[in-house]
Amino acid sequence: MRLTRAYATVPHTFTRKLWPDLAVWNRDLDRLAPPEIIRDLAQHTGVSIQRAFGTTLRAYEGIVFEALIQNGMTPWILPLQIWHRLHLRHGQQYCPACLDCDDPYFRRRWRLSLVTGCTEHGLVLLDRCVHCGAPINFHRAAYWIPRFTSCHKCGEDLASTVQKTTKLDLQELRAQRHLQYTISRGFVDLPDAGPVYSHLYLLGYRAFCRVLMSSRGRCALVDLTRDHDLPAVDMKNHVEENLDFAPIALRRHVLLAAWKAFRSWPDGFIEVCHRYGLRGSDFRRDGQILPYWMHFVVQRNIDRPFYCTNVEELTAAIRYMDSHDIRVTPRSAYHLLGRASAKTVDRYLEALQAARVAHPRDA
Ligand SMILES: [Zn+2]
Ligand SMILES: [Zn+2]
Repeated sequence: MRLTRAYATVPHTFTRKLWPDLAVWNRDLDRLAPPEIIRDLAQHTGVSIQRAFGTTLRAYEGIVFEALIQNGMTPWILPLQIWHRLHLRHGQQYCPACLDCDDPYFRRRWRLSLVTGCTEHGLVLLDRCVHCGAPINFHRAAYWIPRFTSCHKCGEDLASTVQKTTKLDLQELRAQRHLQYTISRGFVDLPDAGPVYSHLYLLGYRAFCRVLMSSRGRCALVDLTRDHDLPAVDMKNHVEENLDFAPIALRRHVLLAAWKAFRSWPDGFIEVCHRYGLRGSDFRRDGQILPYWMHFVVQRNIDRPFYCTNVEELTAAIRYMDSHDIRVTPRSAYHLLGRASAKTVDRYLEALQAARVAHPRDA
């Protein structure tokens, strides 16, 4: 976009001349990142291909998500909903203070649903023109409009609202720093689990966000964000549990609540699950697979599977009773283990055989 403005042309003409066979503006360019465009831009602007590729959302593969989904939704990427060449959804966020400089550009991370604040300026991101409410379509801002950061619809400068933009409170700023630092570092160090790749950490974080947005987790969501000055969100209007479709106001609630539960992993998380009655099955709904670091904690502390006395325990009990001349019956064997008798005697018989074969009783 900055190149097209430097050549005083419109983006459509620019790309048609360079890549006549490529459909560019009616697709999510940052997400799909056609290799021809990356290669040619790198070659003609004197940067490495790696550096050019690093400006695309595809380069978040293995960092934010496992793999970019070519035809469909990729987790954490805000959808644009492109109609012809117009972006209809508010999927492009921005920080007005970051744009308020001589050479402004739209940061790659502003397209991620987990980024809701600017950690540099401590401001909440905006996802629309404050003056007219239009989604950001910076590729539609005509080149004769003085600044690249002007709204394509009303022409007002997006960077002009710095003073009026909401500041992040300390906890929300910390939550954003944690998430954005996780992405830039590529891993997190978790107590009990050790280093975990960032995309696997975020997979678990996302599973918890989903529970918070469901009817089962809503109580926890409201409680955990009660003391913060966040915009009111009517949850009833929001039935979708996909964070990427949620408006920024709701995402702020969910990401902050999740951070508060995760910040003292795993005790804080376990405590929240117990307090709000969240179950392991809430995390695994619709076949959702949890990353191992999270599955391990959920299985050990949140799931309460029905415990069955096993054959080894029964065998040991029978041996003990034999050696103390106690009459062995299914009832007495289970009773010794502090359990009520099982409905079937299969295990008891198996244990009895094991105990008596290895240590036959004296005649
Ligand atoms: Zn900023
Ligand atoms: Zn506008």
